[in-house]
Amino acid sequence: MAGRPKSKASYIKNTVDPHFSWFIRLNGANQNGMCRCITCNKMVHWTEIDAGHFHIRKNMGTRFHPCNVAPQCSWCNSWNEGQSALFAQYIKDKFGVEMLDELAELAKGNEPLDLDKLVVLVAELKTKIRKLCKDKGLKCPLR
Ligand SMILES: [Zn+2]
Repeated sequence: MAGRPKSKASYIKNTVDPHFSWFIRLNGANQNGMCRCITCNKMVHWTEIDAGHFHIRKNMGTRFHPCNVAPQCSWCNSWNEGQSALFAQYIKDKFGVEMLDELAELAKGNEPLDLDKLVVLVAELKTKIRKLCKDKGLKCPLR
C-alpha cells in the first residue's frame, strides 16, 4: 500500500484522472480494443479515444461520475463544448432523463473531494481495469 499522497491537486491530476479515463475507455472497448465515440459513432482504439466529460472537468461534483464521462473521439471532445447536445441525448437514452437532472445538481456542488475517498476510488478503479482487460483480452495499462 502506497503512502498517503501529499498534494490532493496533483494526486487528482496525475493518478485519479488517468485511472478514471482508462476505466471509462476500457469499459467502452470491445474485444478488439475498439471504442465507439458516443457522439459521432466513429470507432477508435481505446488508447486513442478520449474520455469526454459532459459537465466539464472543473466541476468536482461530477468529475468522477461514471454517467458524466464517456468515450469520445478527440474531434467531438474538443468541438462545440464536447457536442453537448448529443452528449445529453446519450445520457438520456442510456441512463434516463433523471440522470441529467442528477448530474446538473451534482455539478453545482463545489465541495472539495475527500483524499481518503479518492485513494479508495483509485484502488477500485485498478481492480475494475484489471478485470476489464482480462475479460476482453486487452493489454493492461497498469503495472
Ligand atoms: Zn466523435
